[in-house]
Amino acid sequence: MNCEECQQHLQAALDGELDAAASRIHEQHLASCAVCQTAQAELLGVRRLVRAHASRHTASAALRFRVVSDIEQAAPAAPVSPATSPRSALERLFGYLRRWPWAGINLGFATTASVAFAVVFSLYLQMPSEQDRSDQEIVATHFRSLQVDHLADVISTDKHTVKPWFSGKLDFSPPVVDLASQGFALIGGRLDYFDQHAAAAMVYRHDKHLINLFVWPDQVVRGGKLRSIHGFQLLRWSDGEMAYAVISDLNGAELQQFQQLLVARVSSGN
Ligand SMILES: [Zn+2]
Repeated sequence: MNCEECQQHLQAALDGELDAAASRIHEQHLASCAVCQTAQAELLGVRRLVRAHASRHTASAALRFRVVSDIEQAAPAAPVSPATSPRSALERLFGYLRRWPWAGINLGFATTASVAFAVVFSLYLQMPSEQDRSDQEIVATHFRSLQVDHLADVISTDKHTVKPWFSGKLDFSPPVVDLASQGFALIGGRLDYFDQHAAAAMVYRHDKHLINLFVWPDQVVRGGKLRSIHGFQLLRWSDGEMAYAVISDLNGAELQQFQQLLVARVSSGN
């Protein structure tokens, strides 16, 4: 192996992508070549710098939800043939870059730069407000709860079963009310987590519609206005001690009716 070949394989070697035989030959050359050792050290230095200083962003539940629903909407009905799947296109691109590493570096930088610019620019255009982001989290949490087996951890129509179930699991005691006689039957509760806090989630049913009521301690009054997001209606308010959010695919008028019944019952001490 000469220096040029060795340096062409440096990245693949660092990524553990060489087979055993190629890796052995690569190691042998590296061990005896100061020039290639320097090239390897530079590459490791870049890698360390990127790991230490590149900004990382954890995808919020709302972003995951948007991406998953966009993918689901865009997914073709027929199975994707391996030749045209995005994954195979990427694999072909990486294969090309590996065979032509110097061309690849230029192309790679250009691609990375333009993708980075496109991502930053589109994020800038779509930068959500704090309230939007928080609302999206609630929508995503609601959506998740509708998936199989996520709706309720305690299934009961009896508030005397649901309320004690929360104690010990939360450091606050959410008001649990049953509104079955008004057409909104309590069907259970569960713990949820969004916006970096735990929340009590109570599930109600109205005809075929499910309603999630989230309650958590928060003195800040947010929202108040009915919002329609991704086909769900969301209503948020606070009573100065607890924050509330109700979300459902019910129509807005019915959701507001549910909220009024709930507020009246909570303020009268259940
Ligand atoms: Zn060398």
